Amino acid sequence: MTINRNLIAGSWVESTDVIRNINPSNTDDVVGEYASATAEQVEQAVAAARAAFPAWSRSPIQNRADMLEKIGNEILERRDELGRLLAREEGKPLADGVGEATRAGHIFKFFGGEVLRLQGEKLASTRPGVEIEITREPIGVVGLITPWNFPIAIPAWKIAPALAYGNCVVLKPAELTPGCAWALADIISRAGIPEGVFNLVMGSGSKIGSALIGGVDALSFTGSVPTGRKVAAQAVERMIKFQLEMGGKNPLVVLDDADLETAVSIAVNGAYFQTGQRCTASSRMVVTQGIHDRFVDAVADRISKLVVGDALKPETQMGPAVDQRQLDQNLKYVAIGQEEGARKVFGGDRLNRDTPGFYMSPCLFAETTNDMRVNREEIFGPVGTVIRVKDYEEALHVANDTQFGLSAGIATTSLKHANHFRANSQAGMVMVNLPTAGVDYHVPFGGRKASSYGPREQGRYAAEFYTTVKTSYTLP
Ligand code: ADP
Repeated sequence: MTINRNLIAGSWVESTDVIRNINPSNTDDVVGEYASATAEQVEQAVAAARAAFPAWSRSPIQNRADMLEKIGNEILERRDELGRLLAREEGKPLADGVGEATRAGHIFKFFGGEVLRLQGEKLASTRPGVEIEITREPIGVVGLITPWNFPIAIPAWKIAPALAYGNCVVLKPAELTPGCAWALADIISRAGIPEGVFNLVMGSGSKIGSALIGGVDALSFTGSVPTGRKVAAQAVERMIKFQLEMGGKNPLVVLDDADLETAVSIAVNGAYFQTGQRCTASSRMVVTQGIHDRFVDAVADRISKLVVGDALKPETQMGPAVDQRQLDQNLKYVAIGQEEGARKVFGGDRLNRDTPGFYMSPCLFAETTNDMRVNREEIFGPVGTVIRVKDYEEALHVANDTQFGLSAGIATTSLKHANHFRANSQAGMVMVNLPTAGVDYHVPFGGRKASSYGPREQGRYAAEFYTTVKTSYTLP
């Protein structure tokens, strides 16, 4: 098997250590072998990016726009193949893998356009004759640390704005899913990006991720809260600009006046699709008493029919957990929920399929309270809980009563409650009659409280992080 290497200073560089990329639907299937970078190689990548920065940051905007457009086009042309690689290495169903690859292509094309739209401001001064101009400049060398759950979309939504606004990049993807990141690096390098402008270093978070933070000018991280805290501490130590996207414990409020069919569909989609491995997944379903029993029965019925299996099989609706550690964590929380006195309505069992993989049945708990660990801690698996509440006011209180604030949803036909919820939810993203997960690529993404730190990602708001503002005063 050929070893896919790291991209440093425009060359594909070997390493002695290798990451074996395993298919979670079939652990006998090795997706590929990937070189694990050393700390010295990370330093070389950062140095290469630094050397490339002066020319890249001043390069004609048409060149940058064309390059991002070209990268986006190749991703879109190869979306089926890339989606298949994604499904194979991460375990989300093939259609979702292709959807994510498509999204990555669109993101590059969007930022190809944004290159041409970066704006400044010109203001009058309080001092006669003086002119003030406010402009945005690239930051320098940006380190990107990404998780395994969206192995092509998250790297894309960090790389594309970073390059668009004239920064140089060193990407450290998750160890579990280097395949999509490598494919993306290959596309970027063949698009003609100058050497050193984009670098890929694969490997462990504690070694490679940490070495990266030690050298860059800014850092964008997506991952878990505990890792986010470590990353933040290291970034603060160096006083670099940083941005964190982390976990969620996203509520879906279901009111008595909701359309039951809509409520059940968005709950099942939000809580169980992609095996619950989305930071925007609906984990807490907060349901008013008039619809509660009908809702619980209907969700249980729907998830009992979900086809759990190999991500690459067309009939599969829910794939495996990404690895043994994640599966163990999911099953541990199923046990914790039962110990805490929640009523297990369905699932939460280890499943066996034709191939050895990390399968489990979707799990639904009812009669939970918001102080239970299953409602406080992020599980990141197909485990949904239902909290019964009296009325809308209690539902809103419970929805906001969490350390997280990424996404929050409500199923209702009441305009009054929908509007009140949009105004009073303490989340960065609010969904009315839509799943908490599943967002557009051209608008800001991010949360509040422990879910996020720093400026939003995606859409034109990405410029907040990937540029720095300069105010210049001139007396002509
Ligand atoms: P998850 O396992 O859910 O992806 P993590 O927070 O463990 O979440 O990982 C997110 C990313 O952070 C991965 O690329 C991982 O390798 C990286 N990482 C893990 N530990 C550290 C660390 N101490 N410093 C920098 N990056 C890290």
